[in-house]
Amino acid sequence: AHLDRIAAVDGQVHAYLHVDAEGALATARAIDERRAAGESLPTLAGVPIAVKDVMTTKGLPTTCGSRMLEGWIPPYDATVVRHIKAAGMPILGKTNMDEFAMGSSTEHSAYGPSRNPWDLERIPGGSGGGSSAVIASFQAPLATGTDTGGSIRQPAAVTGTVGTKPTYGGVSRYGLVALASSLDQAGPCARTVLDTALLHEVMGGHDPLDSTSIDAPVPPVVEAARRADVAGMRIGVVKELGGEGYQPGVRARFDEAVALLVERGAEVVEVSCPNFDYALAAYYLILPSEASSNLAKFDAMRYGMRVLPEGIDAPTAEQVMAATRDAGFGDEVKRRIILGTYALSSGYYDAYYGSAQKVRTLIAQDFARAYEKVDVLVSPTAPTTAFKLGDKLDDPMAMYLNDIATIPANLAGVPGMSVPSGVADEDGLPTGIQILAPATKDERLYSVGAALE
Ligand code: GLN
Repeated sequence: AHLDRIAAVDGQVHAYLHVDAEGALATARAIDERRAAGESLPTLAGVPIAVKDVMTTKGLPTTCGSRMLEGWIPPYDATVVRHIKAAGMPILGKTNMDEFAMGSSTEHSAYGPSRNPWDLERIPGGSGGGSSAVIASFQAPLATGTDTGGSIRQPAAVTGTVGTKPTYGGVSRYGLVALASSLDQAGPCARTVLDTALLHEVMGGHDPLDSTSIDAPVPPVVEAARRADVAGMRIGVVKELGGEGYQPGVRARFDEAVALLVERGAEVVEVSCPNFDYALAAYYLILPSEASSNLAKFDAMRYGMRVLPEGIDAPTAEQVMAATRDAGFGDEVKRRIILGTYALSSGYYDAYYGSAQKVRTLIAQDFARAYEKVDVLVSPTAPTTAFKLGDKLDDPMAMYLNDIATIPANLAGVPGMSVPSGVADEDGLPTGIQILAPATKDERLYSVGAALE
């Protein structure tokens, strides 16, 4: 049924970069046979899933939305993909994304943007807009995402779906093509909070192949989603997130969601996190710095594309590298590599990268102080509903501002979730509420998220 749906609508939505009908059907049939033989199977066995194209899939193309990796077939599975296969879930295909996960709209994909199923002239969020779009258009019930600054939560908000960025280290990063290693975190995307929890459970857990993986069981997210209980919970509304620059309809739906939580027995207070005002600036130094280092591996020798410079008989390795990067990387990727190498260069390192790291500590301290008073924090997920394709493409700063509410969680490593909060009156488009919890307390996201459904 999902393959039929893909055939019917993905020509318009363009959420998949690659569909593996044969592989998905083979897994589905194998699961049917095992079920018929009376075997007891994992909860999600036979439930199809779409995988963000930043995750390596053995034998299936993995491009990260870049020309640089066009035609590359990874020889191994990311740990999350291994978990998905062990759970018996057919992989329908790989989803579109901004190149190397840099962006908030999928417009930076080298393969063209995905479209928001609510309005095909609008963006489905980014970088994981392919994953949110497949879910919102019923081309898959579940999808994976990665969230470095909001790439799971913002796409969820603008497509009326659910997405979680787990605690940093809660889901293995092994086999995810790294954007910024200290910020990247993989997580689940779905249409309901319980579905999201079920996938979170499959994806998470300790992995010796990732040195930052938390050596503890997955938090009890499914149980929390089923109980949906917020009675007696203390909830903090972040003062710095939700004022100026937030669309009135986004704000109105957020206020209603908070009122609903009070009705369900939660205690709500306002909490100030003053250093969140500097989160975006710190992020756009730390992320490019780490990205410029991580992307250095695309040297025309090891992976993917190789371009020989024209008019040179015996080019040096450096000349091949330069020609390949020139042709293989898009403008946004080049912009961030330049920003990152500049921020890390001697003479500027302390002023830029060093200062950003200090701000990061202050933001973590803001969270720690807030969590002394409350169990979770809430804010609108994104300041606006889905904008029109092309609207922010020529203005990187306007694009970056879309992540203003989601970035603090990545800088501090705490978990966050976006849950639909209704549609804005002015444009009829979906909005989301963001829930943030202390590190390793991911289950609280699901208690609050499920209480809002
Ligand atoms: N939109 C943000 C950025 O462009 C977040 C990206 C992400 O989370 N991968 O960096």
